[in-house]
Amino acid sequence: MKFVVDAWSKGGGRAGVLQVGSCPALIETPALLLSTRKALPNFIPPDLLRSLPSPDSRLLQFSPLHFLEGPSANTISDIGGVRSLVSLHEFGFAAIPRDSTAILPEFDCTNKLGASFNTPSGRHLLKPAEYMRMLAAMKPDIWASLSDEVPSRATDKRNKLSVDRTVKWLDECIALSPPGTAGFGAIVGGWDALERQRCAQEVAKRNVSGYWIGGFGLEETSDQITSQLLRVVVENLPEEKPRLVSGLGLPEEVLRGVAQGIDLFDSAYIHQLTTGGFALTFPFEAAKRHSISDGMSDGTKINLRADVYRKDTSPIMKSCHCYTCMNHTKAYINHLLNVREMLAQTLLEIHNTYHYLGFFQFIRRVVKEGRFQEFHQEFIETRRGHSRVVPADDVCA
Ligand SMILES: [Zn+2]
Repeated sequence: MKFVVDAWSKGGGRAGVLQVGSCPALIETPALLLSTRKALPNFIPPDLLRSLPSPDSRLLQFSPLHFLEGPSANTISDIGGVRSLVSLHEFGFAAIPRDSTAILPEFDCTNKLGASFNTPSGRHLLKPAEYMRMLAAMKPDIWASLSDEVPSRATDKRNKLSVDRTVKWLDECIALSPPGTAGFGAIVGGWDALERQRCAQEVAKRNVSGYWIGGFGLEETSDQITSQLLRVVVENLPEEKPRLVSGLGLPEEVLRGVAQGIDLFDSAYIHQLTTGGFALTFPFEAAKRHSISDGMSDGTKINLRADVYRKDTSPIMKSCHCYTCMNHTKAYINHLLNVREMLAQTLLEIHNTYHYLGFFQFIRRVVKEGRFQEFHQEFIETRRGHSRVVPADDVCA
């Protein structure tokens, strides 16, 4: 893995280039990792996945936890790893032991040997050695070490235990690290700034290729605390290595992360929008943001289940060049949603992913032009204005 930071914006935000494993594409950062179920997007088939902008869409997140129910590590190894399993040879893969869409950490676990997760088939205990055996079979380009994530309500004692365990497990993971892969050290500590700092300092001493910041997106979070915790963590990390955060998905959360120097984002946001029947429509440019007047939008998205779209023969966004907007109308997607055709989610996931990749592209542009702080402030202010006119039942984000 190679990573170079090539631009800093005054007041926050940095842009760089990441090259991982066998993925030939250079990924520009800040970047979005596409979330998957068993290494493929939830609804986008492989041929349409290739219709998304490249190389922006070439870095996929997957959760090894999804494979606890099979196929087995031996079978995946025999096939040649996750990349060969799903036949996406030109893509990069990042293994992260978390998926907030279906699998949650078992916070009350008292087992000191490994992380415990609630999965659809019951509770699973995963020890570092077993986790690394899975990764050796899956051959991801990037992997995050096993962590003991805790929610914001955790006690001081539990936060401390979480950090102690996560650092210990990191050492075990490093000792068993598969050759040719890039290990990211997990940083936890809940809502305790001192524990976050301690964890970041301990992980920064280890021989890792980057950092994975966990513990966000598990419960409602305060904007101010999120920024404070990210700042404490990033201040204690070397500048030359990439920082990946999970659980920050809303546009405002992404901007908050970028402002603190985060390079990579992984979240269930696109998945949640898509399964809810929502399409992202928020514009990036300031002038366009002021022009939104559609009463069905909250300034971020529209709900395509709404009756108002039943006879709407326009695309989700006329200015969007994604496969969905180039070929289909709101009326058709509304119909597909009403008759519960999975093609609705496929078309929505394509549009939402395309749109969000465009948002990240715009963020990189303003960082490189040195006007990220100005863009960030203006974005938040115009959206505050929108939120005052949105009907409460149309807002889910
Ligand atoms: Zn579109």
